[in-house]
Amino acid sequence: MHVRKLMLAAAMSIACQLQFAGFDNGKIAWFDNGKVAWADSGKPYTGNPEAYNAFNQGRTLLINGDAAHAAGYFKKAIELDPNFGVAESNYGVSLSALGDKRGAIEHLKKATTIEPGTAMFWDNLAVGYQAEGDLDSAAQVYEHYLQISPGAADRAKVQAWLNNYHKGRIKGTENATTPDYAASIKPPWMRWNFNQMPLKVFIGSGVGVPGFQPAFVDLIPTACNDWSRPMQGKLSFVPVDNPNNADITIEWTHDLSRAKDPGEGGHTQTWGEQGRLAHVQMIILTNDPTTTVRMTPQRMSWILHHEIGHALGLSGHSPDPDDAMYYNVPPTAMVRYATLTNRDLNTLAKYYGLSN
Ligand SMILES: [Zn+2]
Repeated sequence: MHVRKLMLAAAMSIACQLQFAGFDNGKIAWFDNGKVAWADSGKPYTGNPEAYNAFNQGRTLLINGDAAHAAGYFKKAIELDPNFGVAESNYGVSLSALGDKRGAIEHLKKATTIEPGTAMFWDNLAVGYQAEGDLDSAAQVYEHYLQISPGAADRAKVQAWLNNYHKGRIKGTENATTPDYAASIKPPWMRWNFNQMPLKVFIGSGVGVPGFQPAFVDLIPTACNDWSRPMQGKLSFVPVDNPNNADITIEWTHDLSRAKDPGEGGHTQTWGEQGRLAHVQMIILTNDPTTTVRMTPQRMSWILHHEIGHALGLSGHSPDPDDAMYYNVPPTAMVRYATLTNRDLNTLAKYYGLSN
């Protein structure tokens, strides 16, 4: 494989930025082992054991991806204790996952009113605004979040998101009026030749890699099939056992330095020449650079869909938070498996010269 790579003329790298803040398991795990923790403001979260119990049940359900039932428990918790900020915030997270974006904002905002000193609630509110497509409000809330939490673990990611926003690279769902985002795809514009099909995919072993879950591997065929859907049968994949004759190799790693940028959830490197892709190496991180974010199969499915988009030659990002090729993993990634939007599919079809 190394020899083959050296023989290829141009090595181009696609830096993939999967920045994300909020709505993650680490931040929902607010109570430690059943002990009542304390908010940033120094107040106890709740003095009501029944409310605490309802909150804890909701938390467990949400971590396991059951937002619908989780929402019911969080609702009960805030009815029992109207000043239960973390229950408000997680109720908002649940509603967002269920598609009730307006309701989500209401409760995410309420949490920041109850405890304005708790940085996580502002973080969640910013993500809620992103889900709603109100990026101006998201940016304002992020600025405030960075102000009140200078030591935030995801500071670099939030800053990068703000930079992209200020440069006009992130536009929001309401501005995503075009049927594709082909204009956002950047050079080197390399594509697989249809004569090369099926693309041979080698998936490395994750055994012994900290954070690796066998379920991650099963997500790869789904991601490949999702991307091949608009391609009129011209794009196909086949697993192979030998990395040396693979077109695409996928490697799992826990080592953050293997990704080009420490803020990235994965790194996809492409080799080829004269517009033709010849080899792609995907390095997938089994843990998030933000230590408070727990990797779940749902979250991994977004990373894999995104990286495979790059592996097919899409060397750019969508400005729309709903698209898989957005800069960020979307807010609902924790509880919902990845899907591709029509814009994702249209973009790939257009990129390969096919009308969808
Ligand atoms: Zn990317």
